[in-house]
Amino acid sequence: MNYKRREFLKTAAASALAAIVIPAQAKHSHYLNTDISNTDSIKIKHQKSPTMKLSWTPYNLQLKHTFTISGFSRTTTPVVLTRIEYDGIVGYGEASLPPYLGESQASVIDFLKRVDLSGFNDPTHIEEIIHYVDSIALNNTAAKASVDIALHDLAGKIIGAPWYKMYGLDKTDVPDTTFTIGIDTDEVVREKTLEAKDQFNILKVKVGGPDDKRMISAIRSVTDLPLSVDANQGWTDRLQALDMIYWLKEQGVVMVEQPMPKNDLDSIARLTEVSPLPIFADESLQRLNDIERLKGVFSGVNIKLMKCTGMNEAFKMRNLAEALGMKVMMGCMTETSCAISAASQLYSGMDFADLDGALLISNDCFDGAVLEKGKVIASDLPGIGVTPNRELNFSR
Ligand code: MG
Repeated sequence: MNYKRREFLKTAAASALAAIVIPAQAKHSHYLNTDISNTDSIKIKHQKSPTMKLSWTPYNLQLKHTFTISGFSRTTTPVVLTRIEYDGIVGYGEASLPPYLGESQASVIDFLKRVDLSGFNDPTHIEEIIHYVDSIALNNTAAKASVDIALHDLAGKIIGAPWYKMYGLDKTDVPDTTFTIGIDTDEVVREKTLEAKDQFNILKVKVGGPDDKRMISAIRSVTDLPLSVDANQGWTDRLQALDMIYWLKEQGVVMVEQPMPKNDLDSIARLTEVSPLPIFADESLQRLNDIERLKGVFSGVNIKLMKCTGMNEAFKMRNLAEALGMKVMMGCMTETSCAISAASQLYSGMDFADLDGALLISNDCFDGAVLEKGKVIASDLPGIGVTPNRELNFSR
């Protein structure tokens, strides 16, 4: 019997039981003295239990600065915002869709149309619901994350607690977030660095091209803050990458993300073995099942909600990576404070964080986690801790 069918039968059985309702007065003694075998005194009616209603709206994020990573520039990022309503309580979610990841607003909406939550009568049964959502189609990880995040927000509001508390985490025990300085002219790089240096305790530089040393030197001319670098698979020669990493270490770089092509795991393992800096997987890693084979290849993993289908799997990933002795970082796409706040619930105790997504946009439509002394701190509201700050027209 397939999963949906089994769920349907379970729900149908529960509804049948709920439909037989003995009036409350029947419990009172004077009522019990009457003949309750008289079927008139036992009312059979259908008691409608609340259901989850999923709706969505496409939204376009305006970037404050043109964003460039090796060979690619853009000024907007499309997202789809989601909403699940249950018994008057509302949870919010988000799918962020940078074009290189292969999902679009249209593909997310197609996926969401296939999500039928009517068979589930308790939004706090997250494991069961997420298992169903994941089974609808392969891939579509951002679309799945948009349902997962809205469901966590809803469930947390029903339970009445923020997720960091339910995970047993200290929301202030978090790593500094990096702030990304995009590839640009020396003058613009210096300007952006000056803007950022008093708000952040670590900056991130996109490398992997001919501009690497020039970019680092331009930043170094105005600040000595620690730096992380992300090569986005840009280095193809292992020995050249190692030379570069030694040079970067001298420049105060503290970690390297995805130095080489994602499938070249042999070269990356050999690089990690001798690298003076920890090497983190980003593009080489998607989901929980990828982590075990990356042990011994990378020093650590970059977990992102949009790659791994959301909070339910991300929390398992951090636990598995830690159990395997790997370092862990929490990353993000360009996102509103909705998805960033979801990430902020589960990254306490990690080694690094790259949660600047909402700080890079000028039309953030949610209030939630905030930047405090260089750290992204979750709010104390229940769920993922967000409130929309403008009218959003959700529909289905
Ligand atoms: Mg990366």
